Amino acid sequence: MIRARSQSARSLRPDGKPTAESVGPDTGSPTAAGELHRFVIQKHAARRLHYDLRLEIDGVLKSWAVPKGPPFVAGQKALAIEVEDHPLAYASFEGVIPAGHYGAGTVMVWDQGDYQLTADQSPGHAWRAGKIHFLLRGEKCRGAWTLVRMSPRQAKHTPWLLLKNRDGLQPALPAGEDRSVISGRTFGEI
Ligand code: MN
Repeated sequence: MIRARSQSARSLRPDGKPTAESVGPDTGSPTAAGELHRFVIQKHAARRLHYDLRLEIDGVLKSWAVPKGPPFVAGQKALAIEVEDHPLAYASFEGVIPAGHYGAGTVMVWDQGDYQLTADQSPGHAWRAGKIHFLLRGEKCRGAWTLVRMSPRQAKHTPWLLLKNRDGLQPALPAGEDRSVISGRTFGEI
């Protein structure tokens, strides 16, 4: 089943173009390997700059803070620290969180799009199992990654690893990596 939300996420692009047109060869039919869900990566200039990877799982945005951002070369990995779930509506948030509030600083929608699991299981099951193989179809991130939980879940800040997998797709260069995919703005302009 393809959700209508997938289309609305695409329609957020300011120029109105769909985002799936240059995904690359053979990512398969969207319905072949699993249902589409939304993802977003927000670049967040908080006390420390980081990227927040958020995957729609069971009606919320499961979230990881990735200090160095997602790896783009097969075999590379990055630390991804589990942080609080966010509501789905937060996926389109871009702006400034005022000083004194949680996450104070500037938030940019750095990438967004759909994801699907590459294995035949539900996202909730994969999340609970601590191993999520997924295919991102965003504007900057296209291809296969895996999240692997590194320890039993803790009350806070459970460490995961985000690994880039080989996927046979064209390299997904983060073109325009310092601009928002929804507004085209830089941090300075937000
Ligand atoms: Mn953050």
